[in-house]
Order: sequence, then C-alpha cells, then structure tokens
Amino acid sequence: MSKNTIKTECDRCGICCTKGGPSLHYDDRNLLLNNRLNLEHLITIRKGEPVLSLSTGDPEPTQSEIVKIKGRGTEWTCIFFQEKEAKCTIYEHRPLECSLLKCWDTENLENVVGRNLLSRYDIIASQDPIVPFIKAIDEQCLLENLAQQLSALSRENSRNQALADLTHLVNTDLAIRSQAFAELRFSLDLELFFFGRPLFKILNQYGIETHEANGTCTLSLIPSL
Ligand code: SF4
Repeated sequence: MSKNTIKTECDRCGICCTKGGPSLHYDDRNLLLNNRLNLEHLITIRKGEPVLSLSTGDPEPTQSEIVKIKGRGTEWTCIFFQEKEAKCTIYEHRPLECSLLKCWDTENLENVVGRNLLSRYDIIASQDPIVPFIKAIDEQCLLENLAQQLSALSRENSRNQALADLTHLVNTDLAIRSQAFAELRFSLDLELFFFGRPLFKILNQYGIETHEANGTCTLSLIPSL
C-alpha cells in the first residue's frame, strides 16, 4: 500500500475497525491470560477458509489457522468498536495488529501479518474435552480443497461430484458441532471460536444454498439472475 505524505497520525475515524477485528499473535497471549479478551470475543478462521487478501482484496485460502476478534452480528465491524463515539472500548489493551496499524502507512502491520499467529491449540488446554471435537472437524472437514471444489462446481462434468462432496462435508461439520454441544453444553457464543463458521455459511457466500430436512442437509446452486 502506498504511503500518504499528508496524514501522519491517527484521527480515530474508526474506518479500520469497521473492516474487521484483528488476528491474534503470540504477543497477544497476555490479553487472554489477563481476561482483557475472553473466548466469546473470538472467531477462528480455519486453515483453507477463503479470506480477503490484504494486498489484492481478493478471496484467498488462509495458509494457517487464524484466531480473530469477532465482528458484530453478521457485520465485519469489530465488536469492541463503539460506533456512536467512534472509539475502541479496549484501546489501552488493544491487540498487536491494532497498535501497529497506521492506515496511511501499513508497513509495520504488513511485517507481522500471518506471522506468529495464535491458534486454538495455543489457547485451549490439551486435556479440555472440546479438543477431540475440534480435531474431528479439522480432520474430517478439511477446508484446504475448498477452492478446487468451488472451482469444480463451475464445470458441468464435475459439478455433481463436487456438490456431493460438499454435501458430505456440510453434514459432517454440523453433526460434529451438534454432538459437541449435546455432550458439553457450552455457550453458543463459543461456537465460532471452537469451530469457526459452519461450512454451509461459508458456502452461501459462494452461491450455494443449504436445505435441511429430517436432520440432513442437501445443497443446491443459487440460480444466477
Ligand atoms: S480492538 Fe479496538 S482498535 Fe482493534 S479493531 Fe477492534 S475496535 Fe478497532
């Protein structure tokens, strides 16, 4: 990103906070240890999940897991951004990326993006009963082939197989989440941290609808106008 020679300091417009919460790095561990952040504030972007690239603005599969501060509701705006007063409610204890970001010069931020990222396995104790469920989704619902599967949907000769593969993944993803919730009864606010976004929600962004009947989901392509 080019440097702007006019702007030299943050005027707290808050625009950066409306574009999504920061990813967490090892340097942010104390925020969790000191309860400045808790797990309900977080969302996991699983390895392979498409996210918008900082440099190109296009969706690209993540190379490793990312734990971020959640957006508000279905929006990207960081949950700690208070729109009325355009202020960060945890400003004194904001994560590394927020303290490095200067919108007029993103070099410092770019130097840390994708490096020394925290993952769920750094945050949750290995003996926690949620861990086997997290591993089950990671192993049985790999997102690393998602880009190829989405691309296969656009070709007539591979569309049916790709839909069948994605349908299997969506049902597996939902079954593991349901089993974890039935056994452990955790707050639903933790689901996005434990498991990331359900696959059917990710697919909806790519024009794929999910229909549920008798506990089983089927997928179809949303007809284009
Ligand atoms: S933590 Fe604060 S500074 Fe960082 S994105 Fe959220 S509101 Fe903005």
